Amino acid sequence: MFEKILIANRGEIALRINRACKEMGIATVAVHSTADADAMHVRLADESVCIGPPAANQSYLNIPAIIAACEITGAEAIHPGYGFLSENAKFADIVEEHGLTFIGPRADHIRMMGDKITAKQTVKELGIPTVPGSDGEVSDSDAAKIAEEIGYPVLIKATAGGGGRGMKVAQNAGELSFALSTARNEAKAAFGNDTVYMEKYLQKPRHIEIQILADSHGKVIHLGERDCSLQRRHQKVWEEAGSPALNSTERDEIGGICTKALTQLGYLGAGTIEFLYEDGRFYFIEMNTRLQVEHPVTEAITGLDIVREQIRIAAGGHLEMNQSDVVFEGHAIECRINAENAFTFRPSPGQITQFHTPGGLGVRFDSAIYAGYKIPPYYDSLAGKLIVHARNRNECLLRLRRALDELVVGGIETTIPLFQKLVREPDIINGDYSIHWLEKYLAKLGH
Ligand code: ADP
Repeated sequence: MFEKILIANRGEIALRINRACKEMGIATVAVHSTADADAMHVRLADESVCIGPPAANQSYLNIPAIIAACEITGAEAIHPGYGFLSENAKFADIVEEHGLTFIGPRADHIRMMGDKITAKQTVKELGIPTVPGSDGEVSDSDAAKIAEEIGYPVLIKATAGGGGRGMKVAQNAGELSFALSTARNEAKAAFGNDTVYMEKYLQKPRHIEIQILADSHGKVIHLGERDCSLQRRHQKVWEEAGSPALNSTERDEIGGICTKALTQLGYLGAGTIEFLYEDGRFYFIEMNTRLQVEHPVTEAITGLDIVREQIRIAAGGHLEMNQSDVVFEGHAIECRINAENAFTFRPSPGQITQFHTPGGLGVRFDSAIYAGYKIPPYYDSLAGKLIVHARNRNECLLRLRRALDELVVGGIETTIPLFQKLVREPDIINGDYSIHWLEKYLAKLGH
């Protein structure tokens, strides 16, 4: 096992990784920008190294500085968390070239899943169901023919896509050329690559994803699904395990398909296969080759520590569990408490004047904020994650209601008021919502 791990991240996820390391008796090194000198992840790690100025491309994305921090401190492995360098195949290669261990999948698999067309073709060959669409890249000249074959509405998507950018819907043939050119322009501006492909546009799908763990000895297991259908501008806001829409037969079936596919691929580490789900059918959209923000809901219902498993896998350990040992107990919901206006989502960085976290049975709060802490304006606005677990979904909603009422974050605007409303909405209580529900709801409220 490693003796010292460098955590190449900040915020709540850096604390999350630090916690797993401490419980395993592993020493930790935090890295930070000058803007984060007072941050909680720096305070809680055994050692810390300043790696640059506030801008992420000069600090948290500064590969030479991070490798140097490992060499100075003698850390043997790097956990990248999510975001920043976590899905950067070149970084994973560089880490290994320096004789260090990258706590994550093999660089080749990161690269493969980072290109949407390659990812889709690969998983299709491995037996994972995909959205009907073009076989790879679409040119302006054959777009109309492909769209007729698939049937309108269609979605134009950027090959290099991410964060919902470079994505445009064409409802009919008349809208196609405009959708193509705007998607290409947006993709070119965001990713420097205007290659696009086409998919059937699903009208009322849910977002359901499968969590996978794979060790270096060929064992692959799945930890069930998370339902992340409540989204705004393709950003997840509220996540559940399990999905209110899925029964255990469907769960076993899609979990089995994913496990078999990743066994064939020789995948390593934690990964998430994301699907849209409509009328009882799954359609692959992408695979994330990293730890995800919403991993705690899976931990709540399985009792497994996913970060601990990532570290054990990276050190060459065997997965302790077989698929039959994975038991799903109760229901869990996570709310992303962002430093943003609850209804417009306008960022609200600044100083936290009051802070009180909820407690009690089945309540977890993952966060790096504290009273007096000043949220810097340079990074994403996730301030904390409230995760609630109970014996069933109804009890979970009631527990979430009271936990939200206990939570106090003063001095800045947060998304807490939105969740206080959502937890009382009949559609949410009934589990009856698609990926478009939240935006329609916000529009009805006048936002
Ligand atoms: P990105 O990498 O930009 O986030 P994804 O392929 O993961 O792109 O898609 C992001 C979101 O866009 C999905 O969660 C879903 O809300 C929507 N989406 C993607 N593909 C389709 C589709 N074929 N039909 C309907 N909605 C889609």
